[in-house]
Amino acid sequence: MLTNESLLRRRHAAVPRGVGHTTLVAADRALNSEIWDVEGKRYVDFAGGIAVLNTGHRHPRVMEAVQRQLARFTHTCFQVVLYEPYVELAERLNALVPIDGPVKTILFSTGAESTENAVKIARAATGRSGVIAFTGGFHGRTIVASAMTGKVVPYKKGLGPVVPDVWHVPFPAEGGPVSVEETLRYIDFLFKADIDPSRVAAIIIEPVQGEGGFHPAPVELMIALRKLCDTHGIVLIADEVQTGYGRTGKMFGMENYPIKPDLMTIAKSLAGGFPLSAVSGRAAIMDSADPGGLGGTYAGNPVACAAALAVLDVFEDEELLDRANAIGERLKGRLAALENRNDLLPIRAIRGPGAMVAFDIVRDITTGEPDPEATRTVIQRAWESGLVLLSCGVYANTVRILVPLTASDTIIDEGLDLLEAALTRISE
Ligand code: PMP
Repeated sequence: MLTNESLLRRRHAAVPRGVGHTTLVAADRALNSEIWDVEGKRYVDFAGGIAVLNTGHRHPRVMEAVQRQLARFTHTCFQVVLYEPYVELAERLNALVPIDGPVKTILFSTGAESTENAVKIARAATGRSGVIAFTGGFHGRTIVASAMTGKVVPYKKGLGPVVPDVWHVPFPAEGGPVSVEETLRYIDFLFKADIDPSRVAAIIIEPVQGEGGFHPAPVELMIALRKLCDTHGIVLIADEVQTGYGRTGKMFGMENYPIKPDLMTIAKSLAGGFPLSAVSGRAAIMDSADPGGLGGTYAGNPVACAAALAVLDVFEDEELLDRANAIGERLKGRLAALENRNDLLPIRAIRGPGAMVAFDIVRDITTGEPDPEATRTVIQRAWESGLVLLSCGVYANTVRILVPLTASDTIIDEGLDLLEAALTRISE
């Protein structure tokens, strides 16, 4: 009989250890915001497959669209025989993204592919190679994407030389050691010490750092970056792989800012559980690469495109942006009541726009010293008691909540009850 343990044993024998695991649980089936493991145990899903399931597991409208597409064709390769779902999705995204028009969109399969290709497009448009990214940023695990990712362990250590011409400046997280002015001074230093701005193709930034700890980029930073890009002809790339699709209470995280990016990367919840990603951007920039320079055999898979079109309908019909804000209020209200409770581990800095909610676990509320060990224990206790929960953050002490926006209040409250229990002070 298949058990969690027996599958894990087979997994360790057959799959390299480089793929980490949050839980030791093997999925049997899932629906909306619930997962059942191979032993029949039920879990509340506060992870959403890392922000992929804003419309929940197997949304009926998404499943129906997928079934319809399955009955027609599953692959032709868009470069060989084109198809309407790809073009229609590009049309709908072009009308939706907060980018000054005209806009064009190209599809890929993964988040990393979208950030890699955004850089290629920016390089083609500018004829330059430099890229500026931020410490704590996460842009994927392929070579250029991991070069842009601002964290060495575990993403770069021992994995070979990083590609040249990718430069990092400190990210000014709220409550962190660096201010927006200092970040801008670092960029200035960079222009003096390492790379002339006329050689910079792109600046890439997440509106809210995801893996880095759910830290929103300050509004003044975004405004300053836009100005810098305009002054020096640099392409501003917003990496919306995690912030996109309603998570921040707007369709895209950049809608929380008074400026617009030139290019945007989108993935995760775009196709409701199917592998699909996109780069949307100003048409003049998007058209820079010559035919054949962009694409991929599986890029913009028709089944994933059909799912993505249904996801957009679900967002409209179920008013998921309003729901994201309501969920955010509910989560934050309940978490606020857990702060300063002596029987629970010290938590602080409850934050994040919309339903992109996180908090930190610290050793001591006054010093704020991060407690990654306690955070690991909380995540483990959570899944052992039936709640799938994720951590993140540069200091690995942030608990993040990425519950589907289709989850009911009852399920969310059940998850919060389990989270509260997992936060009970660990006895010495
Ligand atoms: N960019 C951001 C902001 C992300 O959060 C992620 C994934 N966590 C990626 C890029 C990479 O996406 P993928 O894992 O699909 O390659």
